[in-house]
Amino acid sequence: MALPHLERTLTGGNMLKKKANCMIENILNPIKTGLKMLSEKTITYNFPPDMPLTEGFRGRHVYDPEKCKGCSLCAKICPNNAIEMVEREKDGKRVLQPQVDYSKCCFCGLCADVCPTGALKLSNFPFLVVLDKNELLYPPEKLVQPPKLEIGKAPKIKNISSWARSRSFWVLNYFTGCCFIEAIPWVSSGFDMERFGLIAVGSPRIADVLLIGGYVTIKTLKRILRVYQQMPRPKYVIALGNCPMSGGTYWDSYNTIKRLDKYLPVDIWIAGCPPRAEAIGLAVVMAIHAVQSGYTGKKEEVTKKGDLLKLPEVKTDLEEKLFVPFGPQHPGSGNFNMLLKLDGEVVEEAIPNPGYLHRGFEKLMEYRSWWQNIMIVQRVCVLDGASYELGYIGAVEKIAGLDAPRRAKYLRVIQAELSRMQSHLLNIGLVGATSGFDTVARIAWGDREKVLLLLEKLTGSRIYSIYNIPGGVRRDMPSSFKDDVLKFVKYFEKRMKTYDELCFDNEAFIERTKRLGRLTRDQAIDLDVTGPNLRATGARLDVRKATPYEAYDELDFNMITLNDGDAYSRVLCRRKEIEESLRILENALDKIPSGPVANKKTKSGRIVSYFTPLPKGEALHFVESARGELCFHIVSDGGKCPYRVKIRGPTFDTILVALPKILKGVYVADIPVIYWSLDNCPADHDR
Ligand code: SF4
Ligand code: SF4
Ligand code: SF4
Repeated sequence: MALPHLERTLTGGNMLKKKANCMIENILNPIKTGLKMLSEKTITYNFPPDMPLTEGFRGRHVYDPEKCKGCSLCAKICPNNAIEMVEREKDGKRVLQPQVDYSKCCFCGLCADVCPTGALKLSNFPFLVVLDKNELLYPPEKLVQPPKLEIGKAPKIKNISSWARSRSFWVLNYFTGCCFIEAIPWVSSGFDMERFGLIAVGSPRIADVLLIGGYVTIKTLKRILRVYQQMPRPKYVIALGNCPMSGGTYWDSYNTIKRLDKYLPVDIWIAGCPPRAEAIGLAVVMAIHAVQSGYTGKKEEVTKKGDLLKLPEVKTDLEEKLFVPFGPQHPGSGNFNMLLKLDGEVVEEAIPNPGYLHRGFEKLMEYRSWWQNIMIVQRVCVLDGASYELGYIGAVEKIAGLDAPRRAKYLRVIQAELSRMQSHLLNIGLVGATSGFDTVARIAWGDREKVLLLLEKLTGSRIYSIYNIPGGVRRDMPSSFKDDVLKFVKYFEKRMKTYDELCFDNEAFIERTKRLGRLTRDQAIDLDVTGPNLRATGARLDVRKATPYEAYDELDFNMITLNDGDAYSRVLCRRKEIEESLRILENALDKIPSGPVANKKTKSGRIVSYFTPLPKGEALHFVESARGELCFHIVSDGGKCPYRVKIRGPTFDTILVALPKILKGVYVADIPVIYWSLDNCPADHDR
């Protein structure tokens, strides 16, 4: 069998000379970049947080009972059943008032949008962190209180071991669902987890804290319980997001659990969907306080219910060979699993075992109204939710006969390109980290924070923007937004040089990624690969050019193609696409027309609003997401909800079909780099 790694390292000219140059450059370049960075402004936020919370961020509600007329519309539109109307006495009469359960709320803001009197609004307060989940129930009396960050005084230290333990948490991340996205900033230079004594570890045997990042499917639960069981005492569990508390967004999914504490003890709950990275900081401070005062975690045992601790048997006809699982609890895999059949160190066969993130999306969307689906649809893929919103809205507008105003189309493009950039930066960091360039990850994820801040300013949220509505967008850009974006564009045009020095022009990085996981142009086309993974092979396909949507046909940008189709080309393609996104942003902000940002009137004169049914019909809509072609096929039977939704995401073919073919014959050690160079989002193919 050909050994691709050897072929990679031994070809190409005068090896000795090349190696010597490479060594000098590898030593000098990081030093040069490090020295340059010393003169730059520190980008690590203080805690309590001094990072800018934008005005429009969607956080905890504020309620004015004087304005409320008890119409219950807020409860009716809520996609998560987080609002219950409760009886109260007002001016001697019984009235209905909203009570919000923050173990369920996803902060979509639909309740505030629909409230006819402005009685219910969302503030920008993101800190909902509790030891007791019941504290997340906010009756009207509590909603009236203005939100306030309260960090209790540090308690007395019990003894030397409780002090030492509280200052050196070793954290095992189990990224079960999309909430993990807000744990990632803690690895970046912006949040810098190590200053709190937090260290991310890979083995449960040495971990004190299990951080569970989001929704938990039945398949994932079995893995979590096994991981938890292997941790030494005292051990602590922190659950991120509403899904592990109440089922959250997937409260009616057939494949997710609804209460994690039914299966294992949870010490700290962080509400949000996803919770902001700063809220994780508050949880850390609470954990330090609790542990230094002697808290040693809840004592309950892992549930023994049913066969939860048994792993599924893998039936194979493969004798005498070594089988190694890749994922699902591993930084190199995300929540995705493959079984690798090995011949020594070389992969003979890779068998994908998806489903750890399956939530039954297409079914869930049949039970939610056209409007409520805006909230859920972007959760298909947390890494680039904006594209899913855009794909869904495009199909809905075709069915409804709605046309968004031109200004809204430009705003949609701006949102989509910001989302593409943050996704590409995340990927550059992942490929950097898995190929041994940790600094690249820290820098890329630190820069990603700047893009997320712009997204938040535009849409009201860092991650799940819920910005598009049928007929337009929810709000116009704030007055300072154009300047903020242009400032960022200038900064980033210069910043790209740092990435080139550390990564793309760095011989060591090139050596570790070139000729690795190669796909030819014809193979990529045959296997239905799309996006940067396809364009890195030389094939020319980009939905923004092929069938332009929104305002792309009016904007100036190039389609990036490269020729080698290997890991290096794929990640370089993303780096170059970031430059094109910067051009699109500048161009869009220059050309954006004035005018309204939403239109409720269809071509036939009907008004489409929160609770209206859509006419019978069906539509197919494609967009170019960060990972490639994304297709929505939606059927309406004339009702208030879609009759059928089919989502075809970009990772389905790339990962479940092409990846096993690419991995044949590669070294096990090269898999993480190849895998992340393909930019998988397991939540996308699992749906
Ligand atoms: S913000 Fe969304 S999920 Fe939360 S209560 Fe309002 S409608 Fe429900
Ligand atoms: S929609 Fe507004 S006015 Fe109606 S019950 Fe809710 S808070 Fe009160
Ligand atoms: S849907 Fe929201 S709460 Fe649930 S895992 Fe995703 S981000 Fe977290």
